[in-house]
Amino acid sequence: MKIKDKVLIVEDEQSISNFISMVLTANGYDTMIVRGGEEALTMISSHCPDLIVLDLGLPDMDGIEVLKSVRKWSNLPIVVVSARTHERDKVEALDYGADDYLVKPFGTSELLARIRTAIRHTRTALSNSQIAQSGKFTTGDLTIDYDKHQVLICGENAKLTVNEYKIVALLGKYSGKVLTYDFIIRELWGPKAKTDNQILRVNMANIRRKIEKNPGTPEYIFTEVGVGYRMREGD
Ligand code: CA
Repeated sequence: MKIKDKVLIVEDEQSISNFISMVLTANGYDTMIVRGGEEALTMISSHCPDLIVLDLGLPDMDGIEVLKSVRKWSNLPIVVVSARTHERDKVEALDYGADDYLVKPFGTSELLARIRTAIRHTRTALSNSQIAQSGKFTTGDLTIDYDKHQVLICGENAKLTVNEYKIVALLGKYSGKVLTYDFIIRELWGPKAKTDNQILRVNMANIRRKIEKNPGTPEYIFTEVGVGYRMREGD
């Protein structure tokens, strides 16, 4: 029998936590529910969940504090669910190490997809951090060939520049996950790189002209306005 992944739901609104728990249980997860941050930290150290679904507006502390505290010692995947829709809230949560961010209200299939992605990424990172750097990534008609450093559309070389290739390769490595502008710039051009979203935007416009059928409504790389980019999940 398959061992079930344990998800800790940190949420003070009972109707929401019950709903999430019901959806996850129906889809093969074990769940635990806590209402506050202190309780969450205790449960995390005593029960070792495989993933945390974290609300930000908790009665005893801000969810961001829970996030910071967990990230001091653990890479445990954390999906933030929050009513806060501000870009800076999303950026803050992602920069403090949240694996993903969902704005309430969200659909059940979206929640399940984000949870699957977050768990898969942690497993991949643990088993071999180089794994996504070789071989191929495919989603729809797009293929990233990590060995040849090429992006192909329907088998044809999309002829990306080196920088364009690097951006697509990085997004492919973390497909399904939002990468913030700062993260992309840091990863590609080093920690001292001056953050300039403009350069990224220009590159992205060129990438989209080369890989998207209709650059105005992209199929492969999505913009999370004010936050960053997300590559569609692999096949
Ligand atoms: Ca709340």
